[in-house]
Amino acid sequence: MSEHNNNILLTVNNLTLYFPVFKGIIFKKKIGEVKAVDGVSFSIASGETLGLVGESGCGKTSTGRAILQMDHPTSGEVIFEGADITKLNKYELRHLRKKMQLIFQDPFGSLDPRMTVRDIIGEPLLIHKLNGSKAEYREQIDHLMETVGLNPRMVDRYPHEFSGGQRQRIGIARALSVRPSLIICDEPVSALDVSIQAQIINLLEELQEKFNLTYLFIAHDLAVVRHISDRIAVMYLGEIVEFADRKDLYHSPQHPYTQALIAAVPIPDPLIEAERKHVLLSGEVPSPLNPPAGCKFHTRCPYVHDLCRKKTPQLNQVSDRGHRVACHLSAKAPDRNNP
Ligand code: SF4
Repeated sequence: MSEHNNNILLTVNNLTLYFPVFKGIIFKKKIGEVKAVDGVSFSIASGETLGLVGESGCGKTSTGRAILQMDHPTSGEVIFEGADITKLNKYELRHLRKKMQLIFQDPFGSLDPRMTVRDIIGEPLLIHKLNGSKAEYREQIDHLMETVGLNPRMVDRYPHEFSGGQRQRIGIARALSVRPSLIICDEPVSALDVSIQAQIINLLEELQEKFNLTYLFIAHDLAVVRHISDRIAVMYLGEIVEFADRKDLYHSPQHPYTQALIAAVPIPDPLIEAERKHVLLSGEVPSPLNPPAGCKFHTRCPYVHDLCRKKTPQLNQVSDRGHRVACHLSAKAPDRNNP
């Protein structure tokens, strides 16, 4: 699906989210800022899934939180259904929130252990006054339980009585209850066993089809994102470094960071796995408080050259299908197997 699709639901323009860092307890002195999100731009069409991938601490979750206005962006636009929601007041934002829901990473920590499943799923309905009569309220919750593959007879139980996968289904039912158009899925399967991960991904795909949902699917695992995403954005230290259609990204990754992430995904066939060239990432992700000058990836890049240390590469288009890459080498299309 192309970003040029007319049916754009969400556009993020030059989004930044900076957190000031202070020193001292009584006389606080600002010593810098963490640029958690640093000039991120993309659009998502209605019914599309955009995967947002990168190592932990690269700014994926912060991007999701800034889109939902859980953390107010430092600058930039978040245009949802045609309106810039960074400019809305609290009342307007609350009204809009039901259309933009979040599924959390941790199905163990995200559900209130003192609430029954009925109360957990029903709470958003009550907040947004969508509950109707008592009978309608009960019926809606039963229906939501069935929709996510849970037995409605378990509705009066507590979260600890459910498995990890079932708890994530409860979280999904809660998000669905207010009939959103956009769901930000923040690492929704990373805390689950691999077999359960597949079930939850399949459920999310079924629900997308059924309710025409749009997903921003955040993950550190490229294997997970591959199955569900139409397009994928790769983030590094607060910036998007590569953006492409799913097939283009996996078959022709251009940025050395993307190549390293793809190389880290195991292939089930041991013969192919043994012959495959692995681009290994060396070192840790640098501190976002003091990111490297020029290309932020240059401290870990096997293809680094002088220009990379001085000049920040722009996210340039490298194909007419919207494939974009932020690397000084991308236009030259080098043979990266021979650095
Ligand atoms: Fe590597 Fe230079 Fe490209 Fe950055 S700009 S990814 S350091 S080759």
